[in-house]
Amino acid sequence: MTAGSLVALRDRLDRASPAFFRFRRLGPDRTLVTNLEGRWLVLSDADFEAYVTGAVARSSALYERLSDANFLRASWSEAKARDMIAKRKTFLGYGPNLHVFVVTLRCNETCVYCHASRADMDATHTDMTPEIAEKAVDLAFMSTSPTITLEFQGGEPLVRFDLVKHIIEYAEAKNETAKKTVELTMVSNLSLMDDDKLAYLLDHRVQICTSIDGPKDLHDKQRKLPSYSAYDAATRWIATINEAYAARGLDPTLYHVEALVTVTRAALERPKELVDTYAALGCRAMFLRPIDPFGFAGKTAKLVEYPRADYLRFYAEATDHILELNRGGTQILERYAAILLTKILRGEDPNFLDLRSPAGAGVSMLAYSYDGGVYTCDEGRMLAAQGDDTFRLGDVFTSTYRDLVGHPTVRAMVIASNLDSQPDCVDCTYNPYCGIQTTHNHKTQGSIFGRMRESSVCAVHKGIQDYLFGKLADGDPHVLEAFERWNTIRPREHFLHAPDDG
Ligand code: SF4
Ligand code: SF4
Repeated sequence: MTAGSLVALRDRLDRASPAFFRFRRLGPDRTLVTNLEGRWLVLSDADFEAYVTGAVARSSALYERLSDANFLRASWSEAKARDMIAKRKTFLGYGPNLHVFVVTLRCNETCVYCHASRADMDATHTDMTPEIAEKAVDLAFMSTSPTITLEFQGGEPLVRFDLVKHIIEYAEAKNETAKKTVELTMVSNLSLMDDDKLAYLLDHRVQICTSIDGPKDLHDKQRKLPSYSAYDAATRWIATINEAYAARGLDPTLYHVEALVTVTRAALERPKELVDTYAALGCRAMFLRPIDPFGFAGKTAKLVEYPRADYLRFYAEATDHILELNRGGTQILERYAAILLTKILRGEDPNFLDLRSPAGAGVSMLAYSYDGGVYTCDEGRMLAAQGDDTFRLGDVFTSTYRDLVGHPTVRAMVIASNLDSQPDCVDCTYNPYCGIQTTHNHKTQGSIFGRMRESSVCAVHKGIQDYLFGKLADGDPHVLEAFERWNTIRPREHFLHAPDDG
């Protein structure tokens, strides 16, 4: 072969040769390919073979598709890849934006799986002091993030509503000079809500989030109040708060109480009822989160846990039902799907801290426990409540901001949750959209790195992405239209305390 013909051959191969890609069989005659920056295509067997063997004709429609999505060496654009990766990773430019305040461990409810390791109502030693709260707010305001969210949790934060108010007012005063954009959220079972507390929370634009585990009998079986129905208490206030938002002229499609499901074994049998309960309450989103191994759920695992294959069957049935409700005009979405579809269809990252690379623990969130301990994340302080201090970074009195965010544990977690350094994730087709939880790895596998092929979190993430890409490949126009709407980009300006407020 002459030098000239060698150049010609190389040129021909280069034009049609694949650029970097990962692939996964979705089913007969369907292979999903994704590239470095998260563009994707579903190819027939014939197209896939032509692609991997470099035999795609330059004049073909397939060549166009592959080239447009940056899958070919000849037309590979570094700028396209770089811009999309930069867009996906904007969260890397800022310090912690989520700051969780455990104002008390006391709670009046007893939930079978309580991840927070609640304490009895007389355990006043588990209350945060105002001094600790102020120090924690000071640290939160030191974040390099221009936007910070202060989230009140417990236990039940309404048990120490006086302290929640103190934190809000201290933060508002501080922001007169700090000039950040501040969001305030509260996670509550709502049973201790009253009109005065609600008026205060509305006036101070605090977003309210609660839990609904399903139909009344299921919710009340899993979440018990001493003398009345936890479901009635929560749902009564969901309706009242939603009405209050509407009365203030806020768009009900954007402003409503957010509710979270914890999917236990008992819920697995009732996917449609669960969805219908949320729809009847006027909820616009439901987050079908599987049970976690933290807190009391570790002790009650025999009662509440299940194989993840069963969960994925439940997930598909529930989400199919949500799509059917959408078809009939009821607007409700599933949040796991919405987070992933925001990445898959929009190329944006909604910064959900457990589903991104690297994960957000320590770099994008900090958790302040009632005793002043500072943790990488909520799960870190949950483990500490059970005697495992692995994720403790320091305390509000002696640690500087730099000590906390530059802590060796944070550095190790960033490396461990970087999917490009995880043995299985590095080759996984879902790498551009996925994330892992180092605290979960530590708790279930004894190492923050874990082994993804044996991880129940990986099984859930893989199964949900198989479901979503399967639907995208099916191409049902109604589902595609719903998926375009299911994203996490919701401009809710009312809840933003802007730098020039007040
Ligand atoms: S899950 Fe929440 S409401 Fe239930 S017992 Fe625990 S702290 Fe209380
Ligand atoms: S966690 Fe699992 S599904 Fe996600 S990228 Fe890693 S191997 Fe893939």
